[in-house]
Amino acid sequence: MKDQVAIITGATRGIGYAVAEELASQGASIVVVATQQQKCDEVAQALSDAHNVPTLGVATDVSNYDATQLLVKKVMETFSRVDILVNNAGITRDNLMLRMSEEDWDKVLEINLKSVFNLTKAVLKPMLKKKFGRIINMSSVVGVSGNAGQANYAASKAGMIGFTKSIARELGGKNITCNAIAPGFIETDMIESLPKEYLDNIIGQVPQKRLGQVAEVAKAVTFLARDASYTTGQVIQVDGGMQM
Ligand code: NAP
Repeated sequence: MKDQVAIITGATRGIGYAVAEELASQGASIVVVATQQQKCDEVAQALSDAHNVPTLGVATDVSNYDATQLLVKKVMETFSRVDILVNNAGITRDNLMLRMSEEDWDKVLEINLKSVFNLTKAVLKPMLKKKFGRIINMSSVVGVSGNAGQANYAASKAGMIGFTKSIARELGGKNITCNAIAPGFIETDMIESLPKEYLDNIIGQVPQKRLGQVAEVAKAVTFLARDASYTTGQVIQVDGGMQM
């Protein structure tokens, strides 16, 4: 993937970091996006040292439209191209519907879903110009199945799937593909706060009888970014068979 440029949001830890590592190991130039500049710089430097690829760290709140347009402007000034966009940044603010605040609804929708509009909009012109693009949206199994206590998060992840299929239809003829990944429960900071009994119960329902690893999600991203030239509008489940 030498000469290709990948923007990965939420790349400072968890799944996003694994995706950045995996694409860097394939030779892609990496743009690391998260909320803190120092952390973005540290990760960008570490990837560059480990894989000998050009990198750039840009702190950006992905829910802020203007900030995301500036991010892509900076990427174009630095690399003159964007080939791959991985919309991975996301948060949870779980609560049962009766207790869920308007603020928690808005925050989750803005960071998880509006961000996907913001970034996709920003990369489209450069991708159309090159007649090449790979957009990969990190959804979730709960975007397909729903989950009690996660109405905001599940709605944002289901919204990403509708968005993915629409963009696939709009831009398939321009050699821009758009796919989603729906991970099951993956070992990251995001699920660290979940009670052990809850996780044990989940693992009991997973045919592969374990949590997923970030590297296993990153491999699916590589498939969609590097290999899958005739696959668009799809949702690839990386969930140990949790949903079939
Ligand atoms: P994580 O460990 O909590 O990392 C989240 C990343 O998103 C961090 O780099 C964080 O940066 C960044 N981020 C959060 N808010 C942001 C904002 N406003 N602007 C820019 N960056 C922001 O999460 P993860 O578990 O790796 O999950 C990654 C994605 O996979 C999420 O979309 C999540 O919904 C999805 N997913 C995860 C699981 C799972 O089991 N872990 C399952 C299904 C789907 P800062 O540190 O700077 O905030």
